[in-house]
Amino acid sequence: MNVEQIYKDAGALLEGHFILSSGNHSNRYLQSAKVLEDTKRAALLAGALAKQIRNSGIQVETVCAPALGGVLAGYELARALEVRSIFVERKEGQMELRRGFEVRKGEKILICEDIITTGGSAMEAAKIMEALGAEVVAFAALANRGFCKREGTNTLAKPECKLPKELPFFALADFEFAMYAPEDCPLCQEGSKAIKPGSRS
Ligand code: ZN
Repeated sequence: MNVEQIYKDAGALLEGHFILSSGNHSNRYLQSAKVLEDTKRAALLAGALAKQIRNSGIQVETVCAPALGGVLAGYELARALEVRSIFVERKEGQMELRRGFEVRKGEKILICEDIITTGGSAMEAAKIMEALGAEVVAFAALANRGFCKREGTNTLAKPECKLPKELPFFALADFEFAMYAPEDCPLCQEGSKAIKPGSRS
């Protein structure tokens, strides 16, 4: 499966001159929600991710996603794995489990995101699950930005990666983009102006 092509076809892999959330500039940008607007495409991607997880032999009872970005990916993955789907969300800056969702002691939880950059939100979700007595058994994302090491590759996790080394991280593909500090950005030096697509625009 050519994941990069699927993202391109969906208009989810943008090319141009962008300001990333880190403040760095890049010539590429992943607009992750776009790849999931087509429900057949979403099911195809989640099915492939579920297959990797099943093949690993890891037992998952529930998929938990950090809202908002992870919710659709988490729901589709849970459907493909035929397990329960829940999400945590931010209230006044703090991630919380709300809406009547509950987890039991020892419940085996997989944390799912649409895209993992350094894994910050995924780790916030994991900490909530563990604080409630559940057991986080793995992490997953449709796309990996290349900071963390996904299962089945020989790359090394970069120091920025916040995911724990001892737990598996499943993803369909690495999207490693060139990144430039604004003052060193060759696109800026050519006179082009960076835009900030953002997750909300
Ligand atoms: Zn630039």
